[in-house]
Amino acid sequence: MILLEGIIVKSIKYQDSSKIIYVITKNGLMSLLVRGANNIKAKNFSYSQLITKITFDYLDGKEQKFNILKQAKIVDNYSILKSDYMKIQTGFLILEYAYEFINHIDNKKLFYEFLEYTLDNISKNNELIYSIIFRIKLLYLLGIAPVFNKCIKCHKDENLIGFSLDKSGMICKSCYKNDEYLYTGKSLLTMRVLFLTKPQDLNNKLFDSLEINFNDINLFLNLYYDKYLGFKSKVDKVIKKM
Ligand SMILES: [Zn+2]
Repeated sequence: MILLEGIIVKSIKYQDSSKIIYVITKNGLMSLLVRGANNIKAKNFSYSQLITKITFDYLDGKEQKFNILKQAKIVDNYSILKSDYMKIQTGFLILEYAYEFINHIDNKKLFYEFLEYTLDNISKNNELIYSIIFRIKLLYLLGIAPVFNKCIKCHKDENLIGFSLDKSGMICKSCYKNDEYLYTGKSLLTMRVLFLTKPQDLNNKLFDSLEINFNDINLFLNLYYDKYLGFKSKVDKVIKKM
């Protein structure tokens, strides 16, 4: 018997006592019926909680509507993350993006590992920085990466004056037209560094050398996701209220 490993990213009530969970694995997104998951005393209750990594086995739901969770084991319930309200909300934000976009990503294995990496770092480090890193690098996996390192029109990397949201890249002094709105500011450099640095090379020393204005970058990312994917986060509104 081969157990699959996955992270629970969405959980919805199904009938009286059950839940449908959505799990991201190295092969992509799976939905599973978890019987008795609504009963807090049942074993299955813990296998339906968000931000939980499980290994599991399931019955193929050829006849029924759903695959059914047969047995599971908790690998990580991210207890450190769950002990901090801000980290939990940030975790929910990551799951929201993961669920929304997993089916648009070709390299599911790489995405799964990146999701693990992100949740681990949200637990251990500054959650806001890793929520930015996740969303910036996700744009690359989605094939709509912003071009931060050269002019989108002439491809030169000199005299870059700002970022055009319409063209999704930097614009240089000689290509700039007066009527064009450009996004400027120090956050561009910060985003460029976070985008181009490999995950394993990201660390606090690097973050200390950057000027990280979370609200500014968050606004940029929200505009970008809305413009290129028509996506507006519901969780982000909750975080903003805090
Ligand atoms: Zn140019």
